Amino acid sequence: MAQTSSIEWTQTTWNPVVGCRKVSDGCTHCYAERMAKRLAAIARAREATGQSAGRTGNYTKVVNDRGRWNGQVFLDHGALDDPPSWRLPRVIFVNSMSDLFHEDVPLSFIQDVFDVMHRCPQHTFQILTKRPAITARYSPQLRWPPNAWMGTSIESAEFVHRANDLRRCGARIKFLSVEPLLGPIPRLPLSGIDWVIVGGESGPGARPMQPEWARQIRDRCRSRNVAFFFKQWGGVNNNATGRELDGRMWSELPTPELACAV
Ligand code: SF4
Repeated sequence: MAQTSSIEWTQTTWNPVVGCRKVSDGCTHCYAERMAKRLAAIARAREATGQSAGRTGNYTKVVNDRGRWNGQVFLDHGALDDPPSWRLPRVIFVNSMSDLFHEDVPLSFIQDVFDVMHRCPQHTFQILTKRPAITARYSPQLRWPPNAWMGTSIESAEFVHRANDLRRCGARIKFLSVEPLLGPIPRLPLSGIDWVIVGGESGPGARPMQPEWARQIRDRCRSRNVAFFFKQWGGVNNNATGRELDGRMWSELPTPELACAV
């Protein structure tokens, strides 16, 4: 099942794994957890009236009664058939509702996901993890296709070490998602990095991002020829705060030929 995405830097989400566990400050208001809570409630309502919940039912396996991650991951083997069935090229965010490199996702399943990416050269796949040490450990056993971009999230200076792990993986294009940006990161490591996304936190309880923090990263990217994408200011009403920084949008991509696709 393809989900057209409202995420500014992709087109479609694809979730062969759902469910996660929080690992750092950036996870506190996890958007995926909020979505999973909603989807699990929809699935339970359908099932209560005797209807099939379909894939939405996957979410009842990964959230508890309070709508929080229950620590489980669910591997959706059926989802592996989806990208090959999409004939037109798409930019695909892999696992918006989980982390492909979660501790409980077996290497064999990750290899199956990579096989799918190999079989779909028409698509571009964007994988994002907060567990790049696992990505680096598995990397020699993964066949990295040229159409797979690998990224890690860095929400504050405390987690810049994730960039070092990312650099050890075999992806051709590597990127940093600096979202939600929770503090200044004056020395964001950019060696070997092709693309940086910056964004503030959105939704209930959003922690504010200072403009200076975003400018500092933009200027660092510009001085090192790294593509820079400003995703959003964030806030409780994200739509109202927009995505301009210093009077313009920043929507650079590591492969300019995809610029009109996302
Ligand atoms: S790693 Fe991502 S999906 Fe998992 S809890 Fe953290 S923010 Fe949510």
